[in-house]
Amino acid sequence: MNSDAYQDVDACPQCGRQHTVKIYQVVIHKTLRWSESINCPKCGLQSEADGRGFPPPEIREHLLRTGGAWCVQVTEYPSKVALLRVLRENLKLSLNEVKRISDNLPGMVFLGTYGEATWLHELIGQVGAIGSVDRV
Ligand SMILES: [Zn+2]
Repeated sequence: MNSDAYQDVDACPQCGRQHTVKIYQVVIHKTLRWSESINCPKCGLQSEADGRGFPPPEIREHLLRTGGAWCVQVTEYPSKVALLRVLRENLKLSLNEVKRISDNLPGMVFLGTYGEATWLHELIGQVGAIGSVDRV
């Protein structure tokens, strides 16, 4: 299980004061999950949100800003078809995107947060692909 907790500063959606937001991205049983918790010291707003898969854009922004961007590089794969199928299904890629990745193999197949990159790295490992997760 890979767990990442990040803290960032954002304006309170209720009173506008800058406050700390805590964000987690975690992989449980091969499923990517995220959660966000807000606790405003001025107006007392408390808010929790969570879900499966890729987080909403504004939460992803926090993760990328505080945790950096990471990529998955694939160097070897026993079956290109199997590798592309895993990428397509889990990243919900269009055929054009799949073709673009296919044309660039071996090489970078994904760019995102650390939690997402380690999640995908684990998935492609199941079809025998070998690669690395690197900070961009
Ligand atoms: Zn507030």
